[in-house]
Amino acid sequence: MKTLLVANRGEIALRVMRTAKRLGLSTVAVYSEADAHSAHVAFADQAFCIGGAAARDSYLRADVILEAAKQAGVDAIHPGYGFLSENADFAESCAAAGIAFVGPPASAIRAMGSKSAAKALMEKAGVPLVPGYHGDDQSFETLAAAADRIGYPLLIKASAGGGGKGMKIVNAKAEFADALSSAQREAQNAFKDPKVLLEKYLTRPRHIEMQVFADRHGNFVHLFERDCSIQRRYQKVVEEAPAPHFPETRRAAMAEAALGAARAVAYVGAGTVEFISEGEQFYFMEMNTRLQVEHPVTESITGQDLVEWQIRVARGEKLPLAQDQIKATGHAVEVRLYAEDPERDFLPQIGKLTHLHWPEGVRIDSGVRQGDSVSMHYDPMLAKVIAYGADRAEAIGRLHRALGETEVTGVATNRRFLRSIVGHPAFAAGEVDTGFIPRHAADLKAPVPDRTLMTALAVLAVLRKAERDAEQAIDPTDPWSPWGRSPGWRLNRDAYVDVALDEITVRAHYRTGGFVLDLPDGGSVTVSGVCGGDGAIAARLDQRSLSARAVFGERTLTIFALGDEAVFALPDPLAVGGGEAAAGKLVSPMPGQVTKLFVSAGQIVEKGAPLIVIEAMKMEHTITAPKKGTVAKLPFAVGDLVPEAAELLVLEDAE
Ligand code: ADP
Ligand code: ADP
Ligand code: MG
Repeated sequence: MKTLLVANRGEIALRVMRTAKRLGLSTVAVYSEADAHSAHVAFADQAFCIGGAAARDSYLRADVILEAAKQAGVDAIHPGYGFLSENADFAESCAAAGIAFVGPPASAIRAMGSKSAAKALMEKAGVPLVPGYHGDDQSFETLAAAADRIGYPLLIKASAGGGGKGMKIVNAKAEFADALSSAQREAQNAFKDPKVLLEKYLTRPRHIEMQVFADRHGNFVHLFERDCSIQRRYQKVVEEAPAPHFPETRRAAMAEAALGAARAVAYVGAGTVEFISEGEQFYFMEMNTRLQVEHPVTESITGQDLVEWQIRVARGEKLPLAQDQIKATGHAVEVRLYAEDPERDFLPQIGKLTHLHWPEGVRIDSGVRQGDSVSMHYDPMLAKVIAYGADRAEAIGRLHRALGETEVTGVATNRRFLRSIVGHPAFAAGEVDTGFIPRHAADLKAPVPDRTLMTALAVLAVLRKAERDAEQAIDPTDPWSPWGRSPGWRLNRDAYVDVALDEITVRAHYRTGGFVLDLPDGGSVTVSGVCGGDGAIAARLDQRSLSARAVFGERTLTIFALGDEAVFALPDPLAVGGGEAAAGKLVSPMPGQVTKLFVSAGQIVEKGAPLIVIEAMKMEHTITAPKKGTVAKLPFAVGDLVPEAAELLVLEDAE
């Protein structure tokens, strides 16, 4: 194998190519028109444009990718995760073209592709299953009878599902019929297959999965487990290895079950067997026949490079290590940093990453660079931050500090939310289950930052910037130009300036080397220090010295200090009063597709009533009424695509 094509984008494309280069392979990237200037393209030895921005026009185009592979004369294709990674037809087309697919055989992908069929197979192999129904008979009578047998609460899952989509909890018999038809409809829409399965809904389970590996010589090993219990809407948020409070006997039993699952489908390559566990029990949930997003925690505790293993297996080599040579030491924790706004129900964010600073001492797997844009077309994950420590407490401490040193501006992120989870005492105690986030929701709302401190730093940054701007405006031929000095020094000792930030104005009195600020709460603080062109602040606030960072946006100033951040609005000289929402116009917060309309024109709605659902980037966002009113205009219908900031609806005051 000499040349490898990575049929993916972002962090996973980069991560795979890094290992490929280290192994002496030459690398080929593919990219959509939206990704022409992205990091994975720049990193590759060569790259092919494979179509338009939408995934179905590019990263899902198996035919175009294979054409690029042939043109570049590659020996192998790595699919990463998502996109074509679990597409058995694609794996087959690669083989037919004489190109190695870095993944399992198509037969194994197919066997595990349907959750129902996989469960039937696992049942035969003696792998424990959640009590439920996964039969082919999908008649209402059969499903309803099965539901009664299983009992409530129960979970309806799309058999072809993935990414947490198409799942419905049913709390009581009376809800079953409705929940079933809506689950079937969703499954048909999202996966083109209405087939469902039923499972007993476990109320406080843990998600624990086993990393398995197999080669073409009949060797099967596991590389221990990962605990991915901290989830939001069935999607992983924090992952760690090893699982906390997980006795050796249960680990051994789970490893045995996972290897049984892999053997049952004649698995080859990297795979993950996902289990759901409650108390002493654990049950097979599904097998993901690819490299998992959270594989770095396994790499951290085993010291192995799983992509290297994948490539070796694809080359026909034996697994690098036998089971008794695979050792786990220490502890690793990963978090997924997303461009999403926890304050607005985790709405995915799009926009330009105007500033990006990664922390030291942790592993960062990221596909974005400062200046890149987060688009509506792909998953809004910015980075995975992975911390390793000699033990769990050390790994957690390192991750908490690293998240405090992570700086992103231009889009809202879940950074502070992640930091609250990692810093939570229940997390430190290892009390992890899938109910963690809802249970601690109130605590996880990031605390309001120390506003006085942040305001003082913001004023310092504004004034130092004004001085720099003024210096640049000096006429070099006129050394006596009055514009060359800050206004405070040209006047008397008690000179001051007023700095407008957000809704407030702070009066800054000039003093030698700094300022005394009159704060909005009536107090005052002495501030001195520097803030350079790179935004690095070295400040002294009364008796306290600290370093911080200021990042100026078009109309905002973000201050990063003591692990926290605060965004200030800078005055807009052209501003006119009255936002659009106040006028009753509701605009789309992001580009997407209208998937639901709750209202029709002429209808009177109460404040807070759901109006319209927009889906984008695998997420649904419900727009609610900002006030009571009459729906006057409703230009879009279900299924329509809406651009960002499009007018979705006009609400007129109702009498
Ligand atoms: P995991 O258990 O590894 O998180 P998921 O089923 O949630 O598995 O999906 C794996 C990852 O694949 C997601 O986190 C996402 O980043 C990526 N992914 C899935 N579908 C898509 C898609 N259509 N476009 C881009 N990325 C995708
Ligand atoms: P996906 O293909 O979307 O990853 P999974 O079957 O792996 O679907 O389930 C995703 C998540 O949903 C699990 O990690 C778990 O949190 C939750 N879940 C799945 N099955 C059950 C169940 N029977 N009871 C409670 N929660 C479940
Ligand atoms: Mg899963």
